[in-house]
Amino acid sequence: MRRTDYLRYRRDLGWTDCPDLPEVLSSEAGPTPDTLEGLAEYLVDCTRCPLSERRKNVVFGEGSPSARLLFVGEGPGAEEDRSGRPFVGQAGRLLDGMIAALGLERRQVFIANVVKCRPPRNRDPEPGEMATCSPFLERQIELIQPEVIVALGRIAARYLTGSDRSMGSLRGRWGQFRGIALMPTYHPAYLLRSPLEKRKVWTDLKMVAEKLKQS
Ligand code: URA
Repeated sequence: MRRTDYLRYRRDLGWTDCPDLPEVLSSEAGPTPDTLEGLAEYLVDCTRCPLSERRKNVVFGEGSPSARLLFVGEGPGAEEDRSGRPFVGQAGRLLDGMIAALGLERRQVFIANVVKCRPPRNRDPEPGEMATCSPFLERQIELIQPEVIVALGRIAARYLTGSDRSMGSLRGRWGQFRGIALMPTYHPAYLLRSPLEKRKVWTDLKMVAEKLKQS
């Protein structure tokens, strides 16, 4: 999707308060973080949105700073909030299995979320929260420069594709985020509830493995 379309999409969703990172940063003191470590440090005490009020930890994400493959989830759950690490609960164990199915280990990929603080009772992040936090995901993507992004579930898939279509129609089809190959697939938490859908995720992951082999 072109940047102008993307900005129009955000505006159409009512995200009128959705600054890009340069705007966020230019309104704040200090230099733009140009490493993942610097960005993580920049966010550690973040109070830019109401999610900061109840969180225990900012869950910045983890993995290789030069990962070829980036997984993007929705936002931390209770265990992630407690530990400060992404995807460490039951869904995380399933994600580890998905990573292993690609012949990779967790430390070789990067795992991030659209919002870095836990939404109360695991509700969907609100548009304003996503608008405030997503510039930091975008900066992570700029710094990592992955070859492939896998969007896990509806929130990440809709955010990264800019489409509000159902997961059933988004998954299994290549898209792009800022020129990077993007594969939406089902969220591991959904697979825990609907194990029969795992087959579709394996199909999507095979396409990801193929793409990584080619590039
Ligand atoms: N679900 C997500 O989307 N992200 C996490 O980090 C954990 C669970």
